[in-house]
Amino acid sequence: MASELISITGFSLIDLAVFAISLLVGIGFYGVYGWLGRRPVDLCFANMLLGTALYAFAALIIDSANAPQVALFWTRIAYLSATWVMVSLLHFMLEFLGERGPSTRRVMTGFYIFGGVVAALSWSPHFLYPRAHVNPVRSWVNVAPWLPEPGPLQLVFVAFWFASCIYGTYKLYRRPESPLSTPSRIHSTRPLLFGFLLLMIFGTIDTIFATLRICTINFAMIGILSVCLPAGATLVQQILSAEMERQRLAEALRARDRAVREVAHEFKGALTPIGLAASALLDRPEQFNEQSRADILRVIVDETQRLTRLINNMLDIARLEAGRPVELRLDHVNLPTLIESVVEAQRIRSSKHHIEVEILADIGDVTIDSDKVHQILTNLVDNAIKYSPDGGTVRVQVDKSNGDIAIRVSDEGIGMTKEQQAVIFQPFHRVVDPSRRIAGTGIGLHLIKALVEAHGGKIWVESEYQRGSTFTFTLPQQNGHA
Ligand code: ADP
Repeated sequence: MASELISITGFSLIDLAVFAISLLVGIGFYGVYGWLGRRPVDLCFANMLLGTALYAFAALIIDSANAPQVALFWTRIAYLSATWVMVSLLHFMLEFLGERGPSTRRVMTGFYIFGGVVAALSWSPHFLYPRAHVNPVRSWVNVAPWLPEPGPLQLVFVAFWFASCIYGTYKLYRRPESPLSTPSRIHSTRPLLFGFLLLMIFGTIDTIFATLRICTINFAMIGILSVCLPAGATLVQQILSAEMERQRLAEALRARDRAVREVAHEFKGALTPIGLAASALLDRPEQFNEQSRADILRVIVDETQRLTRLINNMLDIARLEAGRPVELRLDHVNLPTLIESVVEAQRIRSSKHHIEVEILADIGDVTIDSDKVHQILTNLVDNAIKYSPDGGTVRVQVDKSNGDIAIRVSDEGIGMTKEQQAVIFQPFHRVVDPSRRIAGTGIGLHLIKALVEAHGGKIWVESEYQRGSTFTFTLPQQNGHA
């Protein structure tokens, strides 16, 4: 019986290639479904593509069948697989491109029941009946000479097919931006969905033309290719982007581990002098005069402030990563005075560096969150000192540019290459050569970028390797910000 149902004259090479491509892409999508965390969207695609592969296989046999019963059986299989493809496509449209509502499940159940009815009907003699004589048009090109005669019930199928096409196109255009997880996902999905619509249209054309006996072109295979080629491209793109995402996550994890180690070092580096200074004061108070006692207390206060800043930065980063926006407490603040206070605190920290402040425009009170701007400036001046290990001048300039206030912090330190400048605002990214042994966590710039942007400003860096860096940030004067 089985050999009778595959009684053929020989496969067409084109059909064989189309089948092989569709099968590979179908299996590939099942692989993606298993590999990328079993997302329903991938299962829908895998079902559509495996249905397409079965359709291609049936078409391959129909085209080469040399007996009416063989062509009839495989045409029915082709209709079954086409119905499977359509129902999976409708499922996809409804679940992933449409809006989910209480009626979604009912509509979906309706699709499946209707698909089941169509599939069952395809086994009725009123749907298809075996061809009595070879189709002369088809036999001329030797493609599906025994394609069965269509019965009246086939109209139901064609109607279902067209309804799916129209519904699919409508959904595709109506909500193209919603709610697939990422825009790139939507972009890669669109050509694939178009491919399915083309498959339906070409399949319908093939049925109509074969029925009317007016054309010899194998439209079904063109339809299958119009699914498989974009599907193959989508598959490769998904695998590549999943691999890139995996590498990005692995790098992010490594960077985070590094940051945790750095934070531990920073804590140790701060707690050791605090502990030594405090125990010296406690154990041998008589050895210290007024001045040296003040110096020791200054060390304790400085290091405690550094730790507090570090902890606050880490808490802020955690808040940002949890998707909570930066909250500003706006106030009228005299910017030059704020800058002087930051610089004064940093001057006490480093006697090696010469810190200059230049106010180049008439800037008085501005509306900003003074704590946050204090944090931004402290971080930038602190970095300028830290990454200029041999001393030199750190310059803080305030100016007006295009209606904004621009604050520049420049140093004559180690500088950065263009590649290094490109990553320093990302969380946990440090680009400093480890042999320099400059402590840090790589979170400061990421955080202050968010703080500047919360004020409606921008921050950027200009730097030359081994020559020094200039960080500039702006605070708008309008928009109720600065
Ligand atoms: P941290 O200084 O704690 O490492 P940041 O986020 O403040 O973290 O800075 C990120 C990286 O940018 C630093 O690790 C350093 O490599 C580089 N960087 C920042 N400021 C400067 C600067 N003024 N000169 C040279 N490199 C800098």
